Formats: sequence, structure tokens, C-alpha cells
Amino acid sequence: MSITPTDFLPFSRPSIDDDMIAEVIDTLKSGWLTTGPKVDRFERMFGDYVGSENVVAVNSGTAALHIAIQLLGLENGDEVITPSMTWPSAVNMIELTGGVPVFVDCDPGTLNISVEDVEKRITKKTRAIIPVHFAGQPVDIDALIDVVKGWGIKIIEDAAHAAGALYKGDHVGTKADFTAYSFHPNKNITTGEGGMLTIKNGDEIDLARKIKFHGVDKRGWKRFGKDLKTLEYEVVVPGYKYNMMDIQAALGIHQLGRLDEFINKRELLARYYDQALSNIPHIAPLGAVSYSHRHARHLYILKLNLEQIRITRDEFMRELKKRNIGSGLHYTAVHKHKYYSDKYGPFLDALPSTEHCSERIISVPLFPAMTTSDQDRVVSAIDSILGECSC
Ligand SMILES: *Cc1c(COP(=O)(O)O)cnc(C)c1O
Repeated sequence: MSITPTDFLPFSRPSIDDDMIAEVIDTLKSGWLTTGPKVDRFERMFGDYVGSENVVAVNSGTAALHIAIQLLGLENGDEVITPSMTWPSAVNMIELTGGVPVFVDCDPGTLNISVEDVEKRITKKTRAIIPVHFAGQPVDIDALIDVVKGWGIKIIEDAAHAAGALYKGDHVGTKADFTAYSFHPNKNITTGEGGMLTIKNGDEIDLARKIKFHGVDKRGWKRFGKDLKTLEYEVVVPGYKYNMMDIQAALGIHQLGRLDEFINKRELLARYYDQALSNIPHIAPLGAVSYSHRHARHLYILKLNLEQIRITRDEFMRELKKRNIGSGLHYTAVHKHKYYSDKYGPFLDALPSTEHCSERIISVPLFPAMTTSDQDRVVSAIDSILGECSC
């Protein structure tokens, strides 16, 4: 009989090395803590990495989405198509900028947006679509671009799971109008909290930078500069306070330097899970897309076959916890949250795959520092839970 290990295995844990710590200390000692030279450096590095010239560092992925959605200039009744199978960030920002979120179903195999369902939901009022590269696996952007052709619809990629993911050889985000990344501690790279927005149209970068920081026009700042002390800054549009600090960028610079290594390790871990879990009945990993890609392996998600077992997914998560193993739920569908179901529901049969998957998915531990014995613990815990509760 195996003994339950007493140390808790978290679902995610960031990898923080000595270079990252030293860089943060250097920032703290420099006397310059907020947006400064390290944010500039991180922006340039990130832009070079993903292949974008227009890069804005912000203090969360949600802020990046908010700025992109704000730049759409939504007017009353304008619609934005979004998956319901996602974290609520983008949907909240659509709502808060005066738009109407239109939920679209997911592909039940990959949990990525269903392009066929997008096609059905486009109307004259559709202004944008916000696909999520779910778990780090790229959505079929070419197919989406094809579907929106001629409609003047913008694409905002939610790449919170997908820093480093490649679609047909290029980094995700290369083809969209806007791409938002998150550096929350659970994501593939972290700055504590933080995010990045990349923009295809260089004409929009100035406004994005202003909206990020109080709507202040830096050119006005330079224009008046030293001569006119009272006008050192000038607000030209109402803006938010979404700037990233140098303390955060200090982490980001070194995290980004290791992103490819992190993804390679995640890939190995995912393959080990694939193999080790393949003999266990009543669970299955997500499916793979057919076009060429590099999966960023942000999450390792399993789908429970609830028809064959006597417990719910939530009970399954509690059973894992009893065995000292953390897990995550990505996600409870947004349309099931109170605010959205009250305002736009009932959805009845509108989102069948999202409904089905939302009750069956579970994310098991996956982070670069995981060991094979950590993974074996997860696998044997899953095996024992399912062994006890199969019908
Ligand atoms: C994490 C996440 C976000 C939000 O990012 P924050 O940095 O936490 O604001 C948005 N969308 C998805 C799909 C995410 O996973």
C-alpha cells in the first residue's frame, strides 16, 4: 500500500532563479522602481521574441485586453464575439466598455473557439472576436480571418496561455490586430502580475500608450519640457493606470530568457502524462489541432467521463486534494456566472460543447520544476480515485 505524501503538490508554481532575484534587487537598489529602463528593455525583448514592433507593457493581461477593447471604440449595441469557455477578463472588459458580449461555443476536443459557430454569430453589429489559445494550443487564425473577411471585424487574440506558442511557424499574435499576454504567476512566464499588448497597426500604439497611463501625451510633455514647468504633462484622453513597474520587468527580462526552455520542459511533462494516463479508463486529455504548431503547454487538462463514474468533477478535485495534490478548473463557462446568466441567459442549448466540457474538465499539476516522481504521484492518485468510483 502506498503512503500519501504529506507535502502538497501545487497545481502550478513559478520558476524563480538567482538571476531574476538579482535583477529585482538591482532595481530596488537603483532608486527607480516604477516604469523605466527595465520596462523599455523588457518591451524590446518581448517584441523581438514574438516578432512585433508595437509592444506595450502593462500591469495585467486584463489591462492589455481592456486597452485593445477600448481602442475598438464600441458604441451602443456593438457586439464582440467571445468564447464562454474562458477566464472572465475579456468578457468583463467588453461589458465595461459598453459592448455586448456574444458567446460562442468551443470545439469539444481542444476547447478552442469553434470557427463554425463564430460564422453563425456574426451580425452587422459585430466589431471584434477574441479567441483564446486554450491551454497554449494555437487557434486556427487563418480560418477565423477567412470567416470575418469583408465584415471589418477586428481580431484580438487572448494569448494569456500562449506566450511562445507557434502557429504554422510564426508566433501567435502575428496575424491579429491585437494580442494580449498575461504574466500572472500561474502563466508560462511571470512578472508577479503583468501583461503585454502587441498591436499590428503602428498608428494605434500612441493612443494605447496614452490609455495605459492616465491619457498623458508624452509629446506634449517633451514639447513643453523644461521651459513651461506647469505643463510638464498634458491629458489628451481619459486613461487608466495600467503601467508595468521596473520591479516587474526585472523578473520578466529573465523569465522571457528562459521561456523556450520552460516550454520544452512542459512538453516533456505533457508527453509523460499522455503516456502514463493512457491506460487509465474514464479520463482523456484534450485533443490536438491538425495544422503545424508549437503548443505552449500552459495547462494539462483532462476530461472526466462522468457517465462512467459515480462522482462529480468537483468531488474528483476534492479527492485529489485529500491526496495532497492541487488541481485547477479552467474554466467554469462565463455564461454560467450569475451576472452573465441573469443579463443574457438563459442560454438553453446555445453552447452545448461549452456546457458539456465545463462540468468535466480538470487541470492537473504542470510546471517546469515538476519531477517524474511528482507526476507519478498525480497518476497514481487519479488511478486510485477512479478505481474506487467507477460504475
Ligand atoms: C490569466 C488570463 C487572463 C487574465 O490575465 P491577468 O494577467 O490575470 O489579468 C485573461 N484570459 C485568460 C484566458 C487567462 O488565462
